[in-house]
Amino acid sequence: MSLLVVGSLGLDDIETPFAKVEYAVGGSAVYISLAASYFSPVTNLVGVVGDDFPSKYLKMMKERNIDLVGLQIVEGDKTFRWSGKYSYDMNHRDTLFTELNVFKDFNPIIPENYLSSRFVMLGNIDPVLQLGVLKQIKNQKLVVCDTMNYWIERKNKELRETLKYIDILIINDSEARMLSGEPNLIYAGKKILQMGPTKLIIKKGEHGCLLITDEIMFSAPAYPLENIFDPTGAGDSFAGGFLGYLSKNDSFDNDTIKRAVIYGSVMASFCVEKFSVEGLLDLNYLKINDRFLQFFSLTQFEES
Ligand code: AMP
Repeated sequence: MSLLVVGSLGLDDIETPFAKVEYAVGGSAVYISLAASYFSPVTNLVGVVGDDFPSKYLKMMKERNIDLVGLQIVEGDKTFRWSGKYSYDMNHRDTLFTELNVFKDFNPIIPENYLSSRFVMLGNIDPVLQLGVLKQIKNQKLVVCDTMNYWIERKNKELRETLKYIDILIINDSEARMLSGEPNLIYAGKKILQMGPTKLIIKKGEHGCLLITDEIMFSAPAYPLENIFDPTGAGDSFAGGFLGYLSKNDSFDNDTIKRAVIYGSVMASFCVEKFSVEGLLDLNYLKINDRFLQFFSLTQFEES
């Protein structure tokens, strides 16, 4: 089933307690589509870069069967830039700068043959652009959306309007608290469900994630890793694995959604093991499934 991913493509400066890199490829759409590419035969990407975006990264995405017909390359402007610095335990991140650059005037135009996409992933970008995408799409079956503190603070009203049209929202714990104005995550989740989405996934970093719907609550751990190299993109890789799996199965009953949460967690765990997108480049079905099974044994226990 066709999967459309809209989001940022960026060049990131990342600082962890152990290393520092500049101009690493990043952006929500890049992580999401790379993670989804292991499930979905073709991932259609819509986004924008400046003429400074290295062509080797476009090649890298094409090699993973990511269709770039919907990627705009703006001559004379710069690619989106973001910089983040991680705390000693890697669980907290400060944004050092965000430069929207090409995103300031971006108008996402969905190519004709993407318009009937059944599965749509609205990666973290301006909620006005996210809604602009949804207004163009016809026949969508499932719309998943991600956002972050930057937009919750600056475009709160617009984000709330976008939320009315989406099915599943994926955000982290501090963002859930910020969006709902509630300190308790369960209560925050219930309030967010009243804003539009029928399902909510709250990511909690190394503590895993929580799926909340009107019917069920499901908790998944994060894969216990000894070496976390760079948490950047973990949330986006989760979203890519999650929606990639759902689009492959063309179904979203509760059991399929729970498995998708685990596949999302698997892809996030591969992402954080290496810098930038490196952890998402050399995977295959066997490696992914092996880790999926490890998740199973990690959480399985006898009733009595
Ligand atoms: P994650 O670690 O999953 O939250 O995603 C990190 C990625 O989000 C980085 O590669 C950034 O380039 C991108 N990013 C950071 N801030 C923004 C923003 N305000 N809008 C769009 N993308 C962003």
